[in-house]
Amino acid sequence: VTKIGVLTSGGDAPGMNAAVRAVVRTGIYHGLEVFGIIRGYSGMIDDDIIPMDSRSVANIIQRGGTILKTARCKEFFEHEGRKKAFENLKKKGIDGLVIIGGDGSFRGAQKFSNEFDIPCIGLPGTIDKDIAGTDFTIGFDTAVNTAVDAIDKIRDTADAHDRLFIVEVMGRDAGYIALHSGIATGAENILIPESKTDMEELVHSLTEKEKRKKLVNLVVVAEGDEFGGANEVAAVIKKRIPQADVRVCILGHIQRGGSPTCLDRLIASRMGYHAVECLLTGKHNVMVGIVNNNLYYTPLDNAIKAKQKISEEWLKIVKILAS
Ligand code: ADP
Repeated sequence: VTKIGVLTSGGDAPGMNAAVRAVVRTGIYHGLEVFGIIRGYSGMIDDDIIPMDSRSVANIIQRGGTILKTARCKEFFEHEGRKKAFENLKKKGIDGLVIIGGDGSFRGAQKFSNEFDIPCIGLPGTIDKDIAGTDFTIGFDTAVNTAVDAIDKIRDTADAHDRLFIVEVMGRDAGYIALHSGIATGAENILIPESKTDMEELVHSLTEKEKRKKLVNLVVVAEGDEFGGANEVAAVIKKRIPQADVRVCILGHIQRGGSPTCLDRLIASRMGYHAVECLLTGKHNVMVGIVNNNLYYTPLDNAIKAKQKISEEWLKIVKILAS
């Protein structure tokens, strides 16, 4: 490879900028020409591709969002769209790609690479942490710390009023943000898509704590839990415990923003560096992950959304520690 392109695609996540910076600077270090592709696959199709130098990624390691912008791109699902994208790359002589995104973006990359024989390297960028082949995804640590910070604040006001708060965090298919932030904030219970909730037991324990006048009662709910989010859970609880002063707080998009944590900057930097090394050594169509603190490569085909089994023990810990 001599000219490479880097793009961010799909859902945004804090730390993507740190990854872009690492790709650009490692590429330049090795004498490659590096191009930034704007708005994910849309920029490839619209020929929105700009040359990057070391200075173009100055002062971005600490910034949330992505300077390259991100998008979902319908045309890329079609062969015609991908062909147009390839022609634009060919015009510039780009012969390798680094895609920072989630499993959808990887599926697109795999298809593209099979059709046009262009090596693609994926970096896992998603706040949900649910990608196979890596212990970390870029953005998860920041999102979960933002959630902890917000829930701590809710706890203060819950305490002042003896209220029961049902807090909703992001996670349509995965409960990691809920599980980690719930344990870290001493939640009474955590409702996640990966596990069934015994509503009888939850109502019982909340009623009992209501009687004891427990100072703070917090339940953390992932948006994709079996009841369909915090509003739905609150409705059930209000009906069952009419005397409780129940409030709902949906954290929403604040979880996607903000300055990335040290951990996210670190893994983004390591992964970005290794993405370029992969292209140079001919390791093609893999996702760069980190497992047990070692670099770990997964064929893009297998880098899919992983509904990992969340240990029952974690959920047991939640209940014991909240009693
Ligand atoms: P994420 O990468 O965060 O999982 P999406 O699933 O929205 O986000 O995927 C991002 C983009 O990747 C899509 O908008 C589309 O352009 C491309 N893509 C996803 N799946 C496919 C596919 N099966 N074939 C071709 N392109 C795809």
